[in-house]
Amino acid sequence: MKIGVLAVQGDFEAHRAMLGSLAVESFEIRALADLEGLDAVVLPGGESTTQLKFLQEEGLFHPLRKFAQEDGAIFGTCAGAILLATEVLNPPQDSLALMDMTVLRNGYGRQLSSEVRFGHCTLKPAPLEMVFIRAPIIERVGPGIEILAEDAGRPVLVRQGRLLAATFHPELTFDSTVYTFFLGLIGERVRA
Ligand code: GLN
Repeated sequence: MKIGVLAVQGDFEAHRAMLGSLAVESFEIRALADLEGLDAVVLPGGESTTQLKFLQEEGLFHPLRKFAQEDGAIFGTCAGAILLATEVLNPPQDSLALMDMTVLRNGYGRQLSSEVRFGHCTLKPAPLEMVFIRAPIIERVGPGIEILAEDAGRPVLVRQGRLLAATFHPELTFDSTVYTFFLGLIGERVRA
């Protein structure tokens, strides 16, 4: 399977390291040609405004939407989750609008802006370590969205078909639970 990681800005190296630790080779996405032949795309954390601008300027915005609509798998963490949401607030921002949810940027305010917390996740029995860095809040999810983890009563890991979004950073821990789940979603496509 061929996985590309958007490598414009943000913590794309951490995603590639996590994939490498799972013996999965990954490729950096910097231009349109890098999307060729991919089964899955990772949108890393970072600054969603910068990433969005890059996608638009490099002509990646519409091809990425098409990739998802043709059943490609996408995993967005933090800024990546913001890019996937249909609606972005605080302030309002354009997005790939692929997952039916409303996201509030920097939703935890200053005090709780960066923190490690443990919470319940349907993917494993033990609490999941979740690293939040100026994280967005998922304020609303549509009926097609499955909630896989919550923190303080709010969804923090959600899935819609082969699209997965986390407001935290699974790539910054040694716990591969979320990544293993994502790799399973891609596998389904390859077999189909
Ligand atoms: N606050 C950032 C944004 O709005 C996201 C932070 C992150 O990805 N760690 O883009």
